[in-house]
Amino acid sequence: MTLEENIARIRAEIDEAARQSGRIGAQITLVGASKMNDADTCRRAIAAGIDALGENRVQEMTKKLAEHAYDGAPLHFIGHLQRNKVKQVVGKAALIQSVGSEALLREIEKAASQQELVQDILLEVNIGGEEAKSGFAPAQLYAAAELAAQLPHIRCLGLMTIPPVAHFPHENCPYFEKVHRLYVDISEKMYDNKWEYISMGMSGDFADAIRCGSNMVRVGTAIFGARDYTK
Ligand SMILES: *Cc1c(COP(=O)(O)O)cnc(C)c1O
Repeated sequence: MTLEENIARIRAEIDEAARQSGRIGAQITLVGASKMNDADTCRRAIAAGIDALGENRVQEMTKKLAEHAYDGAPLHFIGHLQRNKVKQVVGKAALIQSVGSEALLREIEKAASQQELVQDILLEVNIGGEEAKSGFAPAQLYAAAELAAQLPHIRCLGLMTIPPVAHFPHENCPYFEKVHRLYVDISEKMYDNKWEYISMGMSGDFADAIRCGSNMVRVGTAIFGARDYTK
């Protein structure tokens, strides 16, 4: 299967899942998780109609930005972001999806203020309560959303989550449902129902995530093929 065929197939699956939850495919943003794929491949995905590309590593993103890998599509940052690298991402990424601590929120505010811009972000929720994963615990999320609303150079547009690795089909549905409930509740109570994005679902579970209310999916392997970690 070519990359173009993969994207077309995924769009069809997105359409179907969106219909099953009373929406249409055009309401779902398809983000290509393009880590470890070169600039040419990124441009091909953009030509094939991907809505955005998401990168995980600051160094790789910076290199590919210089190679014009993302021309024509919004660039998202979706990986773990160290505070000392915030300056390299603010103003470059249209959306930073992986904001998982108050310290990171404040660092982004500082960098955005220095550049005199407003940075769009999502708050990352560690919905499985996993030690090794970053993100806010559900109980911390309300305070984080309140802080984000008070920072003038940050515009918080919703939530992102990476659930635990699943071993069975549909295993992550309860996590997706929980995050959707948090999204609806916080948006209503603190953001005047103006939140826009709930980013959940990857290659193995994006249809489930959409059926549980996701409107932004981050798909890598199913578009680009398996990543070669030996390189
Ligand atoms: C790599 C990655 C994805 C995509 O994962 P696949 O299983 O390859 O689709 C999604 N989100 C994040 C944060 C990632 O790092």
